[in-house]
Amino acid sequence: MAPAAPAAPAGIRFDGVTVAYHGTVVLDALDLTVEPGEVMALLGPSGSGKTTALRAVAGFVRPVAGRVLLGDRDVTDLPPHRRGIGMVVQQYALFPHMRVEDNVAFGLKARRTPKSEIRARVTEALELTGMAGYARRHPRELSGGQQQRVAIARALAVRPEVLLLDEPLSALDAQLRSGMLAELARLHRELPDVSILYVTHDQVEALTLADRIAVMDRARLRACGTPRELYRAPTDAFTASFVGGANLLPVTVRASGAEFAGTVIEVGTDGV
Ligand code: ADP
Repeated sequence: MAPAAPAAPAGIRFDGVTVAYHGTVVLDALDLTVEPGEVMALLGPSGSGKTTALRAVAGFVRPVAGRVLLGDRDVTDLPPHRRGIGMVVQQYALFPHMRVEDNVAFGLKARRTPKSEIRARVTEALELTGMAGYARRHPRELSGGQQQRVAIARALAVRPEVLLLDEPLSALDAQLRSGMLAELARLHRELPDVSILYVTHDQVEALTLADRIAVMDRARLRACGTPRELYRAPTDAFTASFVGGANLLPVTVRASGAEFAGTVIEVGTDGV
C-alpha cells in the first residue's frame, strides 16, 4: 500500500522558542531542527520541558518568544488543526463511545473530508498499524497496546507531515512496550517522509528508535546528536549520566517472532 506521506516532506524547526507559565520559563530559547523524515527523540527527566516543546509544535501552547516552523511555513500563529500534525499522547485519549473506525475518522470529519476519502484513509491507517480487523470494535474491547495503535492510526489518518508522540509507550507493560517499539520503527520505515518528534524519559526507547536525540535538562537543550555520538562521546556530565550510563544493556526488540535490530548500541565489542 502507498504510504500516507505528505507531498512535500517538512521538517520541524524551533527557532529560539521560549515558553513560560505564570512567568516561569519552562522552555528556554530552544533552537533545534528535526530534518524531514527524521525521528528526533526529546529525552530528559520529568519536568525538563519536553512535553512543552512538543505542545509548542502542536499549537497547544503559545511561545512568548521565538518561532516554530514546519518546512518553510512559520506556524507559530496557526491554530493546531491547520498545522498538518498528528499527535499521540500517553493515555491514548480515544473516545470510549465511538467505534475504532469513528475514532480514526474523527480528525478527518472535523476537516470536512469527503466520505469516500474518509473510508479509504481509515482503512489505510488501520492497515498501517495492524488494526484492520478491529474497525467495528469499541476501545473498551481492546488491550492497551491495541488502543495505542488506534491512537496512532487516528494521528496517521490525517496524513500528517509531522507526527508528535508524547511518551506513547509509557502506559504499556514492558513486553508490549518492546513490541510497540518495533512497530514504531516499522512505521518510520514505511512513512519515510513523516518527521517524528518523540518525547520520552526512557533512554532505551530513545536509543532504539531515534535518528538523533535531543537531551533536555531544566528547560534547556543540553546536547543533540545521534544515539551513537551521545552514547560514545557525551558532551557533558549530565548527558553522560543520562544517555551514556554504563548500566544500559544491549537492546534487542522482538516483534511477531522476528528480531528487530534497530539499536545502535553494541556493548562490549570495542570497549564502549
Ligand atoms: P516534561 O515533559 O519534560 O516532563 P513539561 O514540559 O511537562 O516537562 O513541564 C515543564 C515544566 O513546566 C514543569 O515544571 C511543569 O510543572 C511546568 N508546566 C507544564 N505544563 C504546565 C501548565 N499547564 N501550567 C503550569 N506549569 C506547567
